[in-house]
Amino acid sequence: MAVGRPFVARAVVFHAPGDLRFEDVALPAPGPGELLLRITACGLCPGEVMDWYIARKAPVPLGHEAVGEVAEAGPGAAYRPGDRVFVHHHAPCLTCRACGRGDFVHCATWRPRRLIPGGLATHAIAQAQAVAADAMHVPPEISDDAATFIEPLACVVKSVRRGRLRGGDRVLVIGAGVMGLLHLMVLRARAEPSLVMAADRVPARLEAAARFADVVADVTQRPLIDAAKDATGGDGVDVVIIGPGTIEALQAGIECLAPGGTLVVFTPTSPDDRWPLNVCDLFFNEKTIVPTYSAGPDDTREALGLLQAGLPVTSLVTHRLPLEQAAAGYDLVRAAGSALKVVVTP
Ligand SMILES: [Zn+2]
Ligand SMILES: [Zn+2]
Repeated sequence: MAVGRPFVARAVVFHAPGDLRFEDVALPAPGPGELLLRITACGLCPGEVMDWYIARKAPVPLGHEAVGEVAEAGPGAAYRPGDRVFVHHHAPCLTCRACGRGDFVHCATWRPRRLIPGGLATHAIAQAQAVAADAMHVPPEISDDAATFIEPLACVVKSVRRGRLRGGDRVLVIGAGVMGLLHLMVLRARAEPSLVMAADRVPARLEAAARFADVVADVTQRPLIDAAKDATGGDGVDVVIIGPGTIEALQAGIECLAPGGTLVVFTPTSPDDRWPLNVCDLFFNEKTIVPTYSAGPDDTREALGLLQAGLPVTSLVTHRLPLEQAAAGYDLVRAAGSALKVVVTP
């Protein structure tokens, strides 16, 4: 489908907390290696309601869990009009030292956003770096809803890998929102865990977690450490994955760890937060703290493989909204109640 020029996309742009605007963004014709995508669906990410994180980039177009159809392909692009594609909004160079070590998120090429304006738009330009380094055909059996999970699921795949699971591990996931539930699904699909436990404070989320976890702990009812000890014969768990970006969650998590255990930090705290860590406990109990930030091309491929193997991610979609209702969608994400995945269909 050829498009006229100048071509104007509608995009959702964050200006300040509570101030999302629909803006017209003129898009150029796709250059060499670039794609003009017609966005067919985009998931809303909990990270985008982390105000301190997003406000420092404002004004910024939102959306990075997108799937689309190629409307126009630039010269030399490896996709054709009509192809359904996922394009990651970050792209590593694949040739530098960081990339050679698999540390894609630390590649200098990685940082700039490669979907212009963003995924939460009628159309977007996928820049050549992203098309070359981290784009994929979306097979017909993968629905648009499912394809919006490629990016967040890739982050979870990386998180679980960095947790360095060993056979028989007892694993606790703190936070049973959509990212926590994706962790539970991935853990369930792995051979290593002998126990998968989830903790949250919201009844609907505990209910959702119970579909995948052996044990769910309601942290409003009793201290999490008591539940973790009960579930492990007093030992504590071997791996804790921390969803909420709070010192409280980090502290609760590290207290639940058995000696030799690993704490996976999935979400940042705000830059001003400080954690008074008990290094003596860390040292003598040989606890490991591992942050996990975003995901690389290896992870997006593994995520697509999990979707093709039938990981039931679309069961997490609770809301589908048109682009004009994106603000209401973010309100649902921010409320962190019974809404899980909100998918916007431009
Ligand atoms: Zn995200
Ligand atoms: Zn690189």
